[in-house]
Amino acid sequence: MEIQEARRRLEDARRVAVLTGAGVSAESGIPTFRGAGGLWEGFRPEELATPAAYARDPEKVWRWYAMRYTQVMAAEPNPAHLRLAELEQRKGDGFLLVTQNVDGLHLRAGSRRVVELHGSITRARCERCGHRQPLPPPDAFTPPPVCERCGGRMRPDVVWFGEFLDAELLARAERAFMTAEVALVIGTSAVVEPAASLGRAAKASGAYLIEINPEPTPLTPLADLSLRTSASEGLKTLLPTGS
Ligand code: NAD
Ligand code: ZN
Repeated sequence: MEIQEARRRLEDARRVAVLTGAGVSAESGIPTFRGAGGLWEGFRPEELATPAAYARDPEKVWRWYAMRYTQVMAAEPNPAHLRLAELEQRKGDGFLLVTQNVDGLHLRAGSRRVVELHGSITRARCERCGHRQPLPPPDAFTPPPVCERCGGRMRPDVVWFGEFLDAELLARAERAFMTAEVALVIGTSAVVEPAASLGRAAKASGAYLIEINPEPTPLTPLADLSLRTSASEGLKTLLPTGS
């Protein structure tokens, strides 16, 4: 019953906002940080993804990012990424996909109306002039990259622990969630801001809130429908006509 209702809401909605977290890429073989299966052996994200770590040992931080970059470029978008790209095609202007993921897989799946809140490990940003450039293919990449504009040293184009999110991107995400008729929150533990508040803001503004996550989250009690399953299975259930 609830599923029929959610499908109908999603079908009818002109304004749809989606938030994705690391769980959406789990089925592409990219591990989550918090999830089981401890992936970054020998590396603790909290100790590497920080401005202090980079100031102390930029080469070490770049080695970690180069390893993750190689890993994400070897991965492929999974059916969850593809269905979200398809949903965007159907909704057009009223659609926004906000992701905490830094793996670039939504873009590779064809999504275009995307806000990468935490940046992307597929790009570098110049410390001196702010210029952003894509990394060369993994097999041709030796970190650290050098700015093609000014020759400056470049850092990964990601938001580290203790850094602020880009204010414009965040405002765009908030607008989308506060005006959405349907909000979908997929594969995020919803404990870190702003992930926690986007879903709540949508619900408070009258949106129909759908969550997809194999585990319950703090958002679960608020959700109109909470699908306790993987991102790809959940989206297949909600969008049965997709590929
Ligand atoms: P998170 O807090 O978003 O938690 C991952 C969530 O995914 C959990 O709630 C888990 O229950 C759920 N999940 C696991 N498998 C799933 C599946 N198959 N389908 C749907 N949901 C599933 O993410 P995190 O791992 O704690 O990472 C924190 C931050 O680190 C992210 O916001 C991101 O910036 C970065 N990160 C990015 C990637 C990536 O880009 N793929 C991967 C790991 C971490
Ligand atoms: Zn530069």
